[in-house]
Amino acid sequence: MRLKDKIAIVTGGARGIGEAIAALFAQEGATVIIIDLLEQGAEVAKRIVAKGGRASYHNVSVTDKQGIETLFAAVHKKYGKIDILINNAGITKDRTLEKMSMEEWDAVVEVNLKGVFICTQAVAPYMKAKRYGRIVSAASNVGLRGNFGQTNYAATKAGVIAMSKTWTMELGKYGITANAVAPGFTLTDMVAQIPEPHMEAIKASIPLKKVARPMDIAYGYLYLASDEAQFVSGICLTIDGGMSR
Ligand code: NAD
Repeated sequence: MRLKDKIAIVTGGARGIGEAIAALFAQEGATVIIIDLLEQGAEVAKRIVAKGGRASYHNVSVTDKQGIETLFAAVHKKYGKIDILINNAGITKDRTLEKMSMEEWDAVVEVNLKGVFICTQAVAPYMKAKRYGRIVSAASNVGLRGNFGQTNYAATKAGVIAMSKTWTMELGKYGITANAVAPGFTLTDMVAQIPEPHMEAIKASIPLKKVARPMDIAYGYLYLASDEAQFVSGICLTIDGGMSR
């Protein structure tokens, strides 16, 4: 039980990597607060509870500052603390540079960058008060390497890494760590739209010759959210089968 009695917020926990994080954290003893726009988050919470874990689902957008602040206040009132924030919610709207619309740019920046800022700003006072906190945010290996057709996405993921390093400096003295996880290609709905021939080319370009399963990524989040990682802050943990090196 590496997260025994911890209170953990997981944004984007209704499916994909976030769902794996929520399930793993609950299995390790955490009470998991799932935030997502997809109602299937309620099913994820139900499955966790059916297995003897503790979880609840809340339909709030990470971009809704007031909604997030209200929810975090309610969580804090109920449990007396918030130990872990996993900023996992993220979206893509891919287009090459000259074709990308302002709407596509803004939508991705709004969720992937501003949403992470809003949630972290909202959780900081509660973590500071307890002099304990684990903030782990979703970057991507695209944030380290760039990617064709992902000007908006790559910029936000590089931004997440820089924000985590900044929070390390601002919040470290309160016992709070801030890290990023940079997954490579992971089999979720986000990459399901990629056509099969392209997928084969992607696998061939990865040294381990396969894409990740959501749980491969969730184990990285677990380490950074655990007490074992108490001296680890400001890093970006790349989990991408050896693609970025
Ligand atoms: P996904 O699309 O399967 O899941 C993302 C979840 O975030 C969804 O349930 C979605 O409803 C939720 N979400 C989106 N906007 C939201 C909002 N405004 N408020 C609350 N919830 C919202 O994606 P995934 O593949 O599981 O990716 C999870 C994270 O990991 C993302 O940040 C993504 O950028 C990152 N990532 C994924 C991959 C990959 O290959 N799948 C690679 C690198 C990084």
